[in-house]
Amino acid sequence: MGMTRTPLIAGNWKMNLDHLQAVALVQKLHWSLKDASHEFDDVDVTVFPPFTDLRSVQTLIDADKIPFGIGAQDLSEHDSGAYTGEISGEFLAKLNIGSVIIGHSERREYHAEDDRVVAAKTQAALKHGLVPVICVGETSEDLEKFGASAVPVGQLETALENVNADAEIVVAYEPVWAIGSGQAATPEQAQDVCQKLRDVIRAKLGNAAADATRVLYGGSVKSSNIASFMREPDIDGALVGGGSLKVDEFSAIVRFGKHVGV
Ligand code: PEP
Repeated sequence: MGMTRTPLIAGNWKMNLDHLQAVALVQKLHWSLKDASHEFDDVDVTVFPPFTDLRSVQTLIDADKIPFGIGAQDLSEHDSGAYTGEISGEFLAKLNIGSVIIGHSERREYHAEDDRVVAAKTQAALKHGLVPVICVGETSEDLEKFGASAVPVGQLETALENVNADAEIVVAYEPVWAIGSGQAATPEQAQDVCQKLRDVIRAKLGNAAADATRVLYGGSVKSSNIASFMREPDIDGALVGGGSLKVDEFSAIVRFGKHVGV
């Protein structure tokens, strides 16, 4: 990880936990980290609950001064209007939501989100002061046909069109075959693609952005493999799905620094 980049451990809850369960999990996670004397300044933690949980989680975090970020799992490319069922960046910003996942492979696959939509949503997030967590990654078919990096590199190039050099963004490399499969990429494979994604950031947004932007790995991250990813120079954190729903497991992932040498 780079000298100036604070690691980010992000928990994508997907469609799990209602607002009461969400409040309970965030409280327990906070207690678990405090019990373990975790240095909160060393690692940024952001949770991405479902939309209906956001207000409750935000209220809790604010009231109890819990040092976690909150993000949404998606947003509309539009600000308002006749878009039934959609949520705009404007509404998220009003709730003090700091970031938003864009282009998760489940959105790309089940909601036909292509690179144009991902680019439009990236613009919508930035317009409303939200940090877009732009997800890219190849399917197993892509891997066979084009290798690991061609598809995610192309996806990121499109997403970054018209993004300003000083915009804060996060990039998540999530090989689709590794998501929810229990089969994580090797740290070497992940590093190789994350380095190429950083090269895209450098080419599109310049050196300062490439040095400052956090590039995460996602796909079957667990407490038992997180340290091996975090040792890689271009991996600045993780986007965690299943492992973010269990307090002890996610707490251990956040505390990867304690087991980096393992
Ligand atoms: C994800 O959905 O972003 C993810 C990485 O899932 P999992 O950790 O369960 O593989």
